[in-house]
Amino acid sequence: MVHNFFAGPAILPKSVLKKASESVLSFADMGLSVLEISHRSKQFGEVMEKAENLTRTLSGATDDYAVLFLTGGASSQFYLTAMNVLGKGETAAYVDTGTWSTKAIKEAKLFGNIEVVASSADRGYSYVPKNFNLPSNTKYLHITSNNTIYGTQYQKMPDVSVPLVCDMSSDLFSRPIDIEKYDIIYAGAQKNLGPAGVTLVIIKKDILGKVEREIPTMLDYRTHITKGSMFNTPPAFPIYVSMLTMEWIMEQGGPGRMQEINEEKASILYNEIDRNPCFTGKAESEDRSRMNVTFLPTKEEYTEPFLDMCAANNCVGVKGHRSVGGFRASIYNAISKESVQVLTDTMKDFANKFG
Ligand SMILES: *Cc1c(COP(=O)(O)O)cnc(C)c1O
Repeated sequence: MVHNFFAGPAILPKSVLKKASESVLSFADMGLSVLEISHRSKQFGEVMEKAENLTRTLSGATDDYAVLFLTGGASSQFYLTAMNVLGKGETAAYVDTGTWSTKAIKEAKLFGNIEVVASSADRGYSYVPKNFNLPSNTKYLHITSNNTIYGTQYQKMPDVSVPLVCDMSSDLFSRPIDIEKYDIIYAGAQKNLGPAGVTLVIIKKDILGKVEREIPTMLDYRTHITKGSMFNTPPAFPIYVSMLTMEWIMEQGGPGRMQEINEEKASILYNEIDRNPCFTGKAESEDRSRMNVTFLPTKEEYTEPFLDMCAANNCVGVKGHRSVGGFRASIYNAISKESVQVLTDTMKDFANKFG
């Protein structure tokens, strides 16, 4: 068995992969593959409906919100959010917690006044800044709930009086969502939801239609709301697999249960990092991510032999992001406690041999 710690595209539940692969050969008794049927067919219509309903169940989104399955990745949401809701001359606040936030800030600046109200760049993005003042008339506050590269995560969402726009790409459905806090939630599927190719967007409908700029049809959220994410051909297979993953999350007991399991897995790994003389955590303790666990070797010469040992024990994807170095173990919903245990055992063995 291979233990998959890749950051994204990332691990999917085995039962989901099994159902998905069966459907590639024969879907819904149609005698056809899920890959070769019209997105307008009744059978695919049912997939879309289920995917939307599961998203509503898992997020708590009421009819005040639209649920969209779009293309272009989370990276396209960096500009779409601002383009659709931030009028020229209006102000939005952003917290810069690393690469993905930085990219969101860059794109949003094309459409309005962007105030970076807090940043953790001063300490290498090793924490989540909690104190900031919002400018008056702030339209929304944009945050990145989990910083995939640096391994930090909001353990408590900021308490602000303005709506939140949140990039949840790497921790969506890893814990419950207090939906009323948000105007927009977006997430590329390939971290914790499904395969690459679809982006989930949950958006409060009444914030749209208030900017004066002209928006190209494909980039206007209202187009996709009106057409039920089928204005053009949707990424049918990634939506289907995401739907299966959401069903799997429900079978596990839903986001509340997912959170308990994720906290347990993360604490197994962080306890070992804190105990083991060969490793040190990258993120500050209180902001440690339950999804992407970043850690460094206490001596540079440990790096290669530890990665070799991981490979020998079938732990893959443990090499840190190039901008951080060291190691990163992504422990999304689908990874088992047993896999996390294999990695921590590998760390123990490493310390016995090299420490
Ligand atoms: C991976 C990631 C992105 C980028 O997603 P794409 O779908 O590749 O555009 C954005 N934000 C976060 C937090 C991510 O982890």
